[in-house]
Amino acid sequence: MLALVDGNNFYVSCERVFRPALVGRPVVVLSNNDGCAIARSNEAKALGVKMAQPWFEIRHLEQEAGLVALSANFELYGDMSDRMMQVIGRYAPRQEIYSIDECFLDFAGIRGDLSDIGRRVRDEVLQVTGIPCCVGIGPTKTLAKLANHIAKSAKRKPGSYPARLAQVCNLGELAEEGLDELLAATDVGEVWGIGPRIGRQLADAGVTTVQALRAFDLATLRQRFSVVLERTVLELRGTPCIELEDAPSAKRQIMCSRSFGAPVCTLEDLTEAISTFAARGAEKLRN
Ligand SMILES: [Mg+2]
Repeated sequence: MLALVDGNNFYVSCERVFRPALVGRPVVVLSNNDGCAIARSNEAKALGVKMAQPWFEIRHLEQEAGLVALSANFELYGDMSDRMMQVIGRYAPRQEIYSIDECFLDFAGIRGDLSDIGRRVRDEVLQVTGIPCCVGIGPTKTLAKLANHIAKSAKRKPGSYPARLAQVCNLGELAEEGLDELLAATDVGEVWGIGPRIGRQLADAGVTTVQALRAFDLATLRQRFSVVLERTVLELRGTPCIELEDAPSAKRQIMCSRSFGAPVCTLEDLTEAISTFAARGAEKLRN
């Protein structure tokens, strides 16, 4: 069994650790140069703020709804992430750090009630770092990811899933019918690796829920879609196809990208910005 531990609204949660007055308020963290929202508190999500929505589109909510916008502080988030990953890593011999706020744990050989362990991970991360997180547990990475989505949604949108699955959702604990029901209530677009384009193609083929995808004929799937999607379906059925990578892989790209906070109208301004970021890109390359 694997667990996926994921920090809730991570950047906002990091900011709230040091500014507790922000708890309970709608908060967004803005990308470099304050271009668009890259993290949203639940209260901001409830106001309808979308991921990556440009700041000028939501700025009016400052006055109208008390929205608080913060400039991103990536050094802080990196430090908080290190601390969080250290705490989580103590719970299993193998850990894959998947992104700044997400990691997989391999529970192979771990004895005891995994849901209890999941709750202990959550409690300790909250106690040591102040970051709330959710834990999804399942026999494959794809199912652990999905369990995490269920754990989060059950907490954030009461009624979407049974309340007992909030914060820690262990799919291994469910009877087969219980799992079917859960997956039938979940949109296929929530599956790891299924983006809007494949989602639309699947909808055309009549597949809108995770349960429908899981039941889809494998040969037809491979023919009409891809082996990648076939692998996803096998993972949904509990057959591991995606390995845990506990050693970081070599970087394949270097990026230094920013959104402008305001329209750029002169060549000079544009040149200046591009030289600065090109210099930063070259610095990364030399490192
Ligand atoms: Mg997260």
